[in-house]
Amino acid sequence: MTLLSLTGVSRTYGEVLALDRVDLSVKVGGLTAVVGASGSGKTTLLRLIAGFEAPDAGRIEMGGTVLAGGSGFVPAHRRGIGLVAQEGALFPHLSAGANIAFGMEGSEQDRRVAELLRAVELDPALAQRMPHELSGGQQQRVALARALARRPRLMLFDEPFSALDAGLRANMREMVKARLGAEGITGILVTHDQQEALSFADQLVVLEDGRIVQAGDPRELYQQPRTERLARFLGDALVVDAAVAGGEAMTALGRVRVGKATAEGRARILLRPEQIRLVPWSEGQPAAEILSASFEGPITVVKFRANGATFTIKCSSAEAPVQGRASIIVLGTGHPVAAA
Ligand code: ADP
Ligand code: MG
Repeated sequence: MTLLSLTGVSRTYGEVLALDRVDLSVKVGGLTAVVGASGSGKTTLLRLIAGFEAPDAGRIEMGGTVLAGGSGFVPAHRRGIGLVAQEGALFPHLSAGANIAFGMEGSEQDRRVAELLRAVELDPALAQRMPHELSGGQQQRVALARALARRPRLMLFDEPFSALDAGLRANMREMVKARLGAEGITGILVTHDQQEALSFADQLVVLEDGRIVQAGDPRELYQQPRTERLARFLGDALVVDAAVAGGEAMTALGRVRVGKATAEGRARILLRPEQIRLVPWSEGQPAAEILSASFEGPITVVKFRANGATFTIKCSSAEAPVQGRASIIVLGTGHPVAAA
């Protein structure tokens, strides 16, 4: 069942077309991640959904109600949508605790504030502090706790973990995901971190210059992006020239299985580095000549040459070849990508 839908939504600022005919549908209880480079329109998209801006064209609907479009416009405070803004945006004159409790009713406020502070891995004693007495990362987490406290039907997150370091960032992502799931809240997370998007969402949406270039299951987008550009945006990629025939692609890395529907003839085939294994050399296998191996702890970056082409991949240090010759094994299937 669909909770939110956008149809042909556009928004311009002067000369800038920030969003260009965006169609998007979000399921009840679904988790959507929106990724895109800086300036691609991510914040604009969330502000339109939240109701802080109105679209120039198109329609936004939630649960059968038109929020924006035609003559209708439901103001932000009547949409029942929570937004964790990019910069946190706490009320500066209220303590952290009062920020979180803002709008809460009933007698259990202190207990709930303490519980929410613990959920975002902050000491409940920080409830007394004013926003300016907190670090950027602490402010972001108070803003997150404040949004979670309200339990809206739909929660929007605009790069809410950007001021946190890697470990805490992953914890917050898991916590938010678990909470939204437990409370049946639908979520949209904006991020420029592809890994964060892939691990958070059941629907991944990629924005480029205000347009959705592809949307779908994260695994599918990672493995089968339409274009080479998108392939590289979503992670490390090997894109090789190939001749496709009979469900196989002949490449510099050897024979690669491809989907049955792949068009025959010349193609560019995408492989992810984790599909490539370099194993001790044995006769008759596609060969890799190791050019360099750079140790980085758990992984080693290996540069090699195969059939005149040069490739760089990350290998597990436990099995990375460091010199000489290796055999190439390709796992899984390759997928054709358009050159754009
Ligand atoms: P993102 O969040 O992906 O970085 P934004 O949605 O903030 O992108 O911006 C998309 C485009 O719209 C950018 O080119 C930006 O400069 C422009 N833009 C956004 N808000 C405004 C505004 N209030 N006035 C003028 N231009 C804006
Ligand atoms: Mg932004």
